[in-house]
Amino acid sequence: MRVMVVGAGPAGLMLAAELALAGVEVTVVDRLPRRSPYCRGFTLGARSLELLDRRGVAGRFLAEGPTVPYGMFADPSRPLDLTMMDTDHPYTLGIAQTRVEELLEEWLAELGVAVRWGSEVTGFHQDDDGVEVTVQAGGERRLERVGYLAGCDGSRSLVRRQAGIGFPGTPATGYGLLADVELADPESLPFGVTEGEHGTVFAIPRPGYVRIVLDEPEPPADRDEPVRLSSFQEVLDAVLGRRVELVNPRWLTRFSDAARQADRYVAGRVVLAGDSAHIHPPAGATGVNVALADAVNLGWKLAATALGHAPGGLLGSYHTERHEAGARVLRTTRAQALLGRRDPGLDPLRDLFGELAELPPVGRHLAELATGVGTRYDPVIPGDHPWLGRLTPNLKLVVHGGHTCVAELLRPARPVLLTTGRRTLPTGGGVVAHHVSCPELPELEGVLIRPDGHTAWISTATDPQPDETLAMAVATWFGG
Ligand SMILES: Cc1cc2nc3c(=O)[nH]c(=O)nc-3n(C[C@H](O)[C@H](O)[C@H](O)COP(=O)(O)OP(=O)(O)OC[C@H]3O[C@@H](n4cnc5c(N)ncnc54)[C@H](O)[C@@H]3O)c2cc1C
Repeated sequence: MRVMVVGAGPAGLMLAAELALAGVEVTVVDRLPRRSPYCRGFTLGARSLELLDRRGVAGRFLAEGPTVPYGMFADPSRPLDLTMMDTDHPYTLGIAQTRVEELLEEWLAELGVAVRWGSEVTGFHQDDDGVEVTVQAGGERRLERVGYLAGCDGSRSLVRRQAGIGFPGTPATGYGLLADVELADPESLPFGVTEGEHGTVFAIPRPGYVRIVLDEPEPPADRDEPVRLSSFQEVLDAVLGRRVELVNPRWLTRFSDAARQADRYVAGRVVLAGDSAHIHPPAGATGVNVALADAVNLGWKLAATALGHAPGGLLGSYHTERHEAGARVLRTTRAQALLGRRDPGLDPLRDLFGELAELPPVGRHLAELATGVGTRYDPVIPGDHPWLGRLTPNLKLVVHGGHTCVAELLRPARPVLLTTGRRTLPTGGGVVAHHVSCPELPELEGVLIRPDGHTAWISTATDPQPDETLAMAVATWFGG
């Protein structure tokens, strides 16, 4: 059954790649005539790199920019030490979101899927057997019938609205303004954080221009009213208390601290991923990362469903797992937005929080929260091994005398059972079994890994698990 993915942003491109890897026929449409030249984000975090690594493409992204071993949580003057995390990628990668999208699109093309730019979904109707989608392209309206429709169409998602999915949450309480511009006098504004007479200005150097971000003093009468250079200039001068002349504007926009989440990520044959499923304050710059994590969790489940071999409830588990993860992102980014508020009354709270964040276990917890590295899904089966439900570490392995690792074995996006021969383990459900030895964890008996890299079952000599729990895990996630 064909799946149509609406939107060629990070969520849509990653989801389409996951579906293509699983052998699903997939169509990706985007209403823009070509990729937008305006770059929203400039970073990729540890969890995204771990996931891309498990598809063999992380190197392409890492080749694009510098990495720094810290992240941010609320206070730019107190960076998070990411080296405390247990990951192959304890850093933030500097990479433009537009470049992330280009690389994903290139990879998708290698998998045989070309994005259909200039194709807008204007409506759809779902019934028991499929979804009839109206697509407007090149002045023509076409009806296309697909098995499933994936709304990766951003925060104002038409798919979400037409599916009747609620988007409850907290409305905007404040707005930020962003300008990609040049400075008439390059010395007139230092890069980084500048405390002005009436607020804070962030200036981030970019090749050939500077990105300036500041708070909008009053909520706009119309949120969609375009931001003009003259009005941005006025606000900047007022905040700084002096004139810094801006020229050659490339992009001016506003964003808000609204936080909303779809009340269902799955509605019949319609699914949501990325910004269509959740929006949150920009603190922590994490939207792309959450979009990729949604897509990787959804990909294998939607693929199994579209191909007709999913066990009951598999697609529903996408909602359960990612709605909970999304709610955590909303909570965490809202907390950061509150801590970042320009209100001296919050200083004692900020100071106390800063002190706590310097305690290594707290710093590590915040780093895992901010990057998504701490993400754990309910493993469903009993057991208390710390890996259960989490991403299986990228263990180094020996197979048939050759060297490999967990990430390499997950590249085809299939479920994997690693067995060490201490015990003969039963399998099924299309699980690919590998006999390995694992010098890093000599007591390992076996570990069952979902296509998204999360541990579904694990048994060690010191914590042996009965075969029935393995059978239960295989049946829950892969049928068979
Ligand atoms: C100013 C700003 C700065 C940001 N900085 C960062 C950052 O530093 N790091 C970070 O991780 N995140 C950042 N984000 C958030 C990040 O940009 C988003 O979370 C991310 O783009 C979400 O990806 P997505 O694929 O869900 O949606 P989008 O990237 O919004 O993609 C949706 C796509 O759907 C298409 N579309 C919409 N409707 C239709 C339709 N009816 N038919 C066909 N196509 C349709 C659109 O054209 C678009 O291409 C920032 C956001 C903003 C606004």
